[in-house]
Amino acid sequence: MEILRKRTYQQTVQQGARYLELNNKHTYVAERLLLDRLDWNKTDFIKHLNQEMPEDIFLQYLDDLNQFIEGKPVQYIVGKEWFYGLPLKVNSDTLIPRSETEELVQIALTHLNKKVGTQPLKTLDIGTGSGAIAITMKHERNQDSVTATDISEKALRVAEENARNHQLDIRFLQGDLLEPVSLETFDCIISNPPYISYSETELMDESVLEYEPHSALFAGNEGMSLYERLAYSLPFSLKTDGCLFMEIGFQQGEKLLELYKKAFPDKEVLIQQDINGLDRMLIVK
Ligand code: GLN
Repeated sequence: MEILRKRTYQQTVQQGARYLELNNKHTYVAERLLLDRLDWNKTDFIKHLNQEMPEDIFLQYLDDLNQFIEGKPVQYIVGKEWFYGLPLKVNSDTLIPRSETEELVQIALTHLNKKVGTQPLKTLDIGTGSGAIAITMKHERNQDSVTATDISEKALRVAEENARNHQLDIRFLQGDLLEPVSLETFDCIISNPPYISYSETELMDESVLEYEPHSALFAGNEGMSLYERLAYSLPFSLKTDGCLFMEIGFQQGEKLLELYKKAFPDKEVLIQQDINGLDRMLIVK
């Protein structure tokens, strides 16, 4: 990128956008990279438009643009993603939380608020990653006791930091699926387990494949292996009047409906679609 004589924030971002365009990348990312890096909102940016950008910020910005051009997701470059209105730290040890998972949490919250109101519940998030689900549940329903598990020690460190940053008291436990809570029962269990089939890699975005943790994305047996293991153990972990909300792959609805109807013969089991009309959630209530 050509070095400008007077480098205002506005000029730099405009130049950044042209640089991205030349490299066939979305130009809006030029602004997002700067704002996320500086923890600014749009108003902060507008107030600084005509001010000179310090050299160190400029060099960091240039580095960020180059990393984005190389394919690194913006969220990993700036170390942050927004989830359900809260900023969360993310790094290559954690999946970048997706909007489909916000839909899952929204559905769980609506159900719980309607069913039990403000009555305190015991909630569990299996495979918490950055802590997105557990943090949102505790933030929205502070009276509940929230537990989150993950097999990855490194992911749990990130989740703990996120909970601390938002002053939320969540119990984090390391271990495989339900193993750390095998002697407990819960009113509400939510999970977005790895569910992508290893055979789908050629259809996937290269930046996802190259940068996101494969252990958080993929599962064996056509992406079904963790749902299968959970189908056997979840009935012991869910209270008899409890409910379960799981994110699923868009081609897994039919099979999972059958499997979970068998696992929970006395409960209502249903598949719900996401905003794009694709099967995305398994609900047991
Ligand atoms: N629960 C986390 C999320 O929804 C992590 C999920 C995962 O790693 N599969 O973002």
